[in-house]
Amino acid sequence: MTTTETGLPLFVLGQGVDTHSERGVDCPGELPSASDPELVARAVRAKAALGERVFVLGHHYQRDEVIQFADVTGDSFKLAREAAARPEAEYIVFCGVHFMAESADILTGDDQRVVLPDLAAGCSMADMATFDQVEEAWEVLTDLGLADITVPVTYMNSSADIKAFCGRNGGAVCTSSNARRALTWAFDQGPEGPEKAAGDRKVLFLPDQHLGRNTAVLEMGFSLDDCVVYNPHRPNGGLTDRQLKDAKVILWRGHCSVHGRFSPECVDEVRDRVPGVKVLVHPECKHEVVTKADHVGSTEYIIKMLDEAPAGSAWAVGTELNLVKRLAARHPDKTVTFLDRTVCYCSTMNRIDLPHLVWALESLAAGEVVNQITVDPETTRWAKIALDRMLALP
Ligand code: SF4
Repeated sequence: MTTTETGLPLFVLGQGVDTHSERGVDCPGELPSASDPELVARAVRAKAALGERVFVLGHHYQRDEVIQFADVTGDSFKLAREAAARPEAEYIVFCGVHFMAESADILTGDDQRVVLPDLAAGCSMADMATFDQVEEAWEVLTDLGLADITVPVTYMNSSADIKAFCGRNGGAVCTSSNARRALTWAFDQGPEGPEKAAGDRKVLFLPDQHLGRNTAVLEMGFSLDDCVVYNPHRPNGGLTDRQLKDAKVILWRGHCSVHGRFSPECVDEVRDRVPGVKVLVHPECKHEVVTKADHVGSTEYIIKMLDEAPAGSAWAVGTELNLVKRLAARHPDKTVTFLDRTVCYCSTMNRIDLPHLVWALESLAAGEVVNQITVDPETTRWAKIALDRMLALP
């Protein structure tokens, strides 16, 4: 617990106990080591035995016990590029979630094997847009004569099938750092060529409605009324033909279960609790949260903001808790707190734990490839087209 100039006690992650949200967590006395030292030693041995043959990628939302073995850390896009830049590595061990390992497989050579230490490490957002659902939505747009003027754009956080769908239908992939550029590009595209008035174009944005809405409204000047939400569980997406025809941005009804937790009340509460606090959130948060925040940006942006923030400044961060905790520990001269009082990790990211990592590394060292993620050649071809369109964005 630290105390501000005003005498207000502050909860700093990793440095105290918030009695409101963490009752009963106090544990006086000697605590056991966070990671089993024997498992740590086994991971070190297996990784050393594999040497240059293995390259371990660690997403920012991974646990500390796993991230310590990462050769590089980053967001999903950075990690996919890092994997592609290591053609000499026979094995890529991806400490992240399934769609990220798929992207790594798409971008790496045929002779490289991508391993996900726990196959249950999926992503609830990616699972909210299945290939069949998206094909069905495209049929709805085709029947209305809208598919020809609609460009599908999918967030990196989607399955390889959905990326391939976008590649096949003239669309692209985007990340939270380049979503505005990808949407701008999309509005300039279309099978009818750039001579067709951009005003007639539409974008189908998959699968994160919040990133799509925040980008379209806050960065590109569209109104909330220009956006509609397509619900794949309802006929016609739960929309009238008129609504689909009038929309500029058709947002898929998907969201991140972690970032979706933050509410406008969290922002009000932290501003009351921490005087002078700056609220910094990820664009996967709801529109009403983002509009109340001081800064919004990708995971890499959040890290940079805190790295560059002056000593003594106070920040409430709305993103995954493993990352916020590490940032708090890295900046003891700043107050870094989690935006929500209720602790919430990404449960699927947390599936990758030290036992699974040790198992994957020891298996590889013994010559057995476990939990390999492979994307079939046809899906790879089209997904790569969508990824390459993103890489070529101006
Ligand atoms: S934080 Fe959200 S988007 Fe990222 S893996 Fe977890 S559920 Fe998916």
